[in-house]
Parts: sequence; C-alpha cells; structure tokens
Amino acid sequence: CDRSGITKLLRSCVSLLEWMRQCVLDTLRLSREQLLEVKRRFSEEMTRGLSKQTHKQASIKMLPTYVRSTPDGSEHGDFLALDLGGSSFRVLLVRVRSGTKRSVDMQQKIYSIPQEIMQGTGEELFNHIVDCIADFLEYMGMKGASLPLGFTFSFPCDQTKLDEYRILLYNLTIYQTMIYIFCFPVLTVLDDALKQYEDSQTLVNDTVGTMMTCGYEDPKCEVGLIVGTGTNACYMEEMHNIELVEGDNGRMCVNVEWGAFGENGELEEFCTEFDHLVDACSNYPGKQRYEKMISGMYLGEIVRNVLLDFTAKGLLFRGKVSERLKTRGIFETKFLSQIESDRLAMRQVRSILQHLGLTGSTCDDSVLVKEVCSVVARRAAQLSGAGLAAVVDKIRQNRNLNQLSITVGVDVHKNQTKTLRDLAPQCEVTFLKSEDGSGKGAALITAVACRVKNEGQQ
Ligand code: BGC
Ligand code: MG
Repeated sequence: CDRSGITKLLRSCVSLLEWMRQCVLDTLRLSREQLLEVKRRFSEEMTRGLSKQTHKQASIKMLPTYVRSTPDGSEHGDFLALDLGGSSFRVLLVRVRSGTKRSVDMQQKIYSIPQEIMQGTGEELFNHIVDCIADFLEYMGMKGASLPLGFTFSFPCDQTKLDEYRILLYNLTIYQTMIYIFCFPVLTVLDDALKQYEDSQTLVNDTVGTMMTCGYEDPKCEVGLIVGTGTNACYMEEMHNIELVEGDNGRMCVNVEWGAFGENGELEEFCTEFDHLVDACSNYPGKQRYEKMISGMYLGEIVRNVLLDFTAKGLLFRGKVSERLKTRGIFETKFLSQIESDRLAMRQVRSILQHLGLTGSTCDDSVLVKEVCSVVARRAAQLSGAGLAAVVDKIRQNRNLNQLSITVGVDVHKNQTKTLRDLAPQCEVTFLKSEDGSGKGAALITAVACRVKNEGQQ
C-alpha cells in the first residue's frame, strides 16, 4: 500500500462518513412533489373541517370565529382589550379614531398571574382577571365604565399548566359561538364575570388578532399566520362554505387550528425517526403533529435528537454523548436561529455550542451542527409554506380568480416565499409584520364587530 493508496483510502473514509451524514439529513429534506402532496392533503382536510358531515373526524377544525370583516378604517371608539399569555396578563385601553385623524392609541398595564392562581381553578383565574380590569379602569380614571371588550389568548399546546386554561378558553370560543353547548360550569363563570364589561364581547385566537392588526394597515390582508412557540393560521372564508354556521352571505374569519394537521396520520410518510421521538416525549403524544414539525417549541428538540444520533454513530463530538446533549430542551429557538443564520461564522457557532455545554467540538462539528439546524428550519418553513399555499389557493378558488394578490399578517417572518411561489404560483403573497397582534388586534376585532353591528342596525 503506497502513499497515494493510503490517501485514496482516507478520502473514501471521509466521503463514507459524509455519505452517512447526508443519508440521515436526506430524511429531513422534502422534495417539491412531497410538498405538493402535503398541500393537497391539507386542502382536503380544510374542506373536511368545514363540512358538517366530516367536521368531527377532520384533524383541522376550521373554527368559525364570528369575525365578519377586516377593518375598513371607519371604525372608531374606545375599547378594552385583554391579552392572556404566559404568566402575565395585559389590560389595554385602545382608542380608535377614523377620518382624517385615523389612528390607534393604546395604553396598557401588565398584571402578573400569581402562582397559586395559575395552579388554581379556572374560576379563580377569571375572578383575578375581572379584578385587574376593575383596577385598570380606576387607574385610567374611568372607574365603572362599560366598554366593548376584546380578548385574545395564545397558549401553545405543550405548556402543561396553561393547557388546561387553553382548552377551557378554546371550548369557551365554541361555547360563545353557540355551535356546541358544553356543560362546563367554569365557562359560565367567565361569561358571567365578564358580562359586566360586556357590550360586544369577543374572544379570539391570536392569529385573528394578527390578521386584524395588519388588516388595519393593508386592506389586502386577509390571512393571519403565527409561527412562534406554537403555529396556526386564520383567513377570511366564504360563509356558504362554513357549514357549521347558518347563513350564506358574506365572509367570516376561520381559525384553521392547523397545528393539529397530521393527527389522522396525514404526515406519517414525511415524518422521520426524530419527529417520532419528539412526539413520543411530548406532553401530548399523537397531538399537534404539524405543529411539532414547525414551531419553535419543538425545532430545538428535533435538532438535539439528530445530534444525538450523529454522536452515537461517531459522526459528531468525537462520538462522546455528553449529559448535556441528553438534556431535553437545551436547544432553545433563539440558539437555533442564531446558529442557522447565514452571517454567523463557524467560530461563533462554536462559541454557542460551548455556551450550551457542548464542549470539545471541532470545526467540522460546527459545520455539521449548522447544517442540521438549517435543514430542520428549512423543512419547517417549507411545511408551513405548504399549508399557507393551500390556504391562499383556497381563497383564490373561492373568488374564481386566475390570479390572487393577497397579504398575510405575520408575527415573525419566516421564509416561506419560495415554497409559496412553487406551490401556489397563481397567488402573489406579501408578508406584513404585525405590531402587537394580541393587544391591538383584540381591540380592532371588537371595533370591527361594533361597526358591523351598527351597519346592521342602520
Ligand atoms: C394553538 C393555536 C395558536 C397557536 C399560536 C397553537 O399551539 O393551538 O390556537 O393560535 O399555537 O400561538
Ligand atoms: Mg354557512
């Protein structure tokens, strides 16, 4: 065996290792055909969610929101907005002006939700909320005022403590919309408790708030999209397609609840062993399968599982599986997007890894980690892009258009543009970033509801 023979042998060893890595990463890469298939199944499921007959079985629930219009600029008045998120809670006073003074001014106060209330009953939580509203009104010098009130909430599926409330509020949406009657005492409690502030009361999903905030700036905004800790979308659907709601005229915003796509196995053949691991270790195995491939809450876990696999196969970190790497949740979204960023030099990737306690990484390790992050993030953008393509194409078909130009209101812009161009070429999509979709959005929803109600009375 001469020198060149050894070099050749070493080279083929290196390419063998690279081949092994790429084989694993390939399972996380989706072809155009696969994405088109995701879009097709997604469209099918949307139709099933809207139809009375199939609604129950459909993975995507397509919930009617009773929001009948996006803003047209003629809305005006004072509104209260409540925004219930993690462990805190905001009350806002929102002044909406129309005409030449067209503007939205907001004042707000943040209230914390004490631990014992968080872990207490729904009734205690709702009473706390009502106390905070009263305090806020007093603080604003409007003690005892009765203002229209909007309410948004955003609870990603996996937060155990909060999930109880999420389900509760989620049922409340349905309850309020009177599609289903739930015999659930707490629901009446919130209903009663908030009734004293009621004029036109709206409880809505965060995606709707996002769409409405952007809709105030751009009338073409008829879709709301959130890709954060959780993921979801809403859009303006034709009333005649919404079989769960009586009436055929005009439009209504539908909360797609798209995170649940895949619960009927629609994503099975696109899932990898890593997705199965992440799902199995989550609080709700089998639930929110689409969300688990897209949202920030899970991407870090997918990456960690890939890195674990590489390390166990001796392809990374010199084959040493550290305790750190075995720890759930070490890869927060912020690290993921930092590492994935194009501008970041390998030296910086390495320092992030060190910061995560993944010491002893080589330069090659950094290159590989960066590649894993970008493959996982790219797949997430493509998958959410496929769902979005199904949504905008549905709007286009609803309106019998050859070409649709539409704006999507987003919380954070992820790169779905290329996927959309690929999968929905007849739709020209613009993304608009929403500012305070939950607070401002809740107030605008209420403002629009008041406007529509007044129009109806005239
Ligand atoms: C929830 C949706 C919400 C989304 C974004 C998901 O986990 O199911 O209702 O819109 O997160 O916050
Ligand atoms: Mg209908």
